[in-house]
Amino acid sequence: MVMAMLKAGNKARTSLVFAGLAILLLATIVATALYSFREFSLLGAKERARTAAEIVRVSLTESMANGTIDKRAQLLGRVAHGAGLAEVRVVRGPGVVRQFGKGFEGETGHDDIDDAVLASGKAEYVSTTDRDGPMLRATIPYVAARGSQPACLTCHQVAEGEVLGAVTIRISLAETRNLALNWVFVLVGIAGFFAVAALYLMRRQYQPMAEVALNVQTAVKRAAGGDFSTRLPTPEDGVAHDIAAGVNRLMETLSFDINTINAKVEQLMSYDLPRSRNMLLSTLEMVEGLVDAGKFKQAIEEDETKQQIYLRLSRVIRDAFDIDQFSIYEVANSKNRMTAMVVDGVVDGEPHWCDQEILVRSDACRARRTGHAVDGVVEPKICPMFRGDCDGSGKRHICLPMMQSGNAGCIVQLVATDETAQLIRALVPFLRVYLRETAPVLEAKRLMESLRESSLQDAMTGLYNRRFIEAYVETLQASVIRKGTHLAVLMFDVDHFKKVNDTYGHDAGDKVLIAVAGVLKETLRKSDILVRYGGEEFLAFLVDTTGDGGMIAAEKVRAAVEARKIPLPGGTLQKTISIGVADFPADSSDFWEAVKFADAALYTAKERGRNRVVRFIPELWKTES
Ligand code: GH3
Ligand code: MG
Ligand code: MG
Repeated sequence: MVMAMLKAGNKARTSLVFAGLAILLLATIVATALYSFREFSLLGAKERARTAAEIVRVSLTESMANGTIDKRAQLLGRVAHGAGLAEVRVVRGPGVVRQFGKGFEGETGHDDIDDAVLASGKAEYVSTTDRDGPMLRATIPYVAARGSQPACLTCHQVAEGEVLGAVTIRISLAETRNLALNWVFVLVGIAGFFAVAALYLMRRQYQPMAEVALNVQTAVKRAAGGDFSTRLPTPEDGVAHDIAAGVNRLMETLSFDINTINAKVEQLMSYDLPRSRNMLLSTLEMVEGLVDAGKFKQAIEEDETKQQIYLRLSRVIRDAFDIDQFSIYEVANSKNRMTAMVVDGVVDGEPHWCDQEILVRSDACRARRTGHAVDGVVEPKICPMFRGDCDGSGKRHICLPMMQSGNAGCIVQLVATDETAQLIRALVPFLRVYLRETAPVLEAKRLMESLRESSLQDAMTGLYNRRFIEAYVETLQASVIRKGTHLAVLMFDVDHFKKVNDTYGHDAGDKVLIAVAGVLKETLRKSDILVRYGGEEFLAFLVDTTGDGGMIAAEKVRAAVEARKIPLPGGTLQKTISIGVADFPADSSDFWEAVKFADAALYTAKERGRNRVVRFIPELWKTES
């Protein structure tokens, strides 16, 4: 509508300019023509006046010579009539008056012009308009000249050069004026015709170009706003056609390309753009989001632990998405449990947005159970586990499952207020890209960790195996030295174990080993590291414990094993255990040497009769070696 008005306005303006130019041209032509005709007609009239004046002079001289001067009035009348003049009259100069008298009435000066001409001897031409129309009045003097024919000075007693008289002739200019006007009309007609023709031709040439230019302007403006659907009407041929067709082709290519890019990006994001939005801008936003998510993926792939990944993801939620309140839960692989990995940006933070029930029964979490996003903005109270709105603050939740092997492996819970709810909802598609990138990396990491755990664990007793301590030794050693503490190294060996195997069979032997491992787990601290080191040999590393502390703990274990009744088919069995204790780094700053010293102490315990604890002292090693 606005464009149509704009177009119409533009057209009218262009036509007006052309019409103005044409009128100006015509006016110039008319003015020039009128002026020229006036000049020409004046020139012609002057020429006629001079010729008439000469005829009058000759006729008067002859009538004077013939003595028919009294018929002068008729003579002048004939001349006037013959030459088509409005008036012919003569006046006498002072010399002639002196010689012949005043003459006929009116032959002395009539008016100022006559007097002026008689005085000056110079012709005067005046153009006037009276009741007969436009006139040229010419007053031409007769000057006495010696050589003139007939000779003036023969009759007139005047000096040479004296003004004898003057003839006044009035010539009507009406005829020439009418002629001029007629010509002007013809000229104006011709010029007008050409002007209109030129205008028409110019408009025919110019108008399609102007229209195309306007249409191109509109199309480009819309394209800049991300709308490539504009198609220009194409004039039949000419440059305007080529331009319009070219722009249309360009628009088609652009819209096809943008749509293709858009569809691909949408596919990548699994998100359909609202069509009303600026396609260019939203595509750009999505591409930027994808690029950022790509960088994020690279970063998490290089992360060592899943905790680092959770932390990185929580930083993205907080910093890139500007969401402060959220939880990331990890669903346990086998058990029906969930753990809060990050709460409001804090690793291992206290989970408080949901009922704690979900931690011990993950099925209670709707997103976890269904594997679908749960939108508490659209449907408040959809999940009874959400506790955020208990205080009436109107908090809403959006819970997004992160799918791993077909199940919700993690739940990301965003908490929104009434003000932020819609904004956060709009961000969800972008966050989903991150979650999709995170899911496989996190899954791989979790798998790796559980695999590593299983390969570092002894399946029968559930304790770590020798490989674990080999892999972990450097970290452990560095941590003890960094903290400046001690690590008590306890080496265990079941007494006369062979006998169990020999007497009750291998299975009974295994049961004894499982029972001893159970005693170790129960007696020692959670933070202590328990290792099944060999067949029926165990190692325990007691963190932040000296050799003396280790002795006390070892004694507890020894007593507990001795007291334990191990159930076997057909009765119970009691066994004893011998223990060697060393202190790292007090006994040796070399970790493996400390282990060796503990073994030496154990050997001594065996030697001294078994079922006892021996603290390593350097002498033991010396006697050994
Ligand atoms: P000592 O008091 O001197 O330690 O006597 P011992 O009989 O316990 O001797 P030793 O420590 O050399 O015994 C090792 C035996 O433990 C050899 C092997 O048959 C047995 N054994 C090792 N691993 C296992 C296991 O996984 N299960 C069972 N049942 N027996 C094992
Ligand atoms: Mg042994
Ligand atoms: Mg033994």
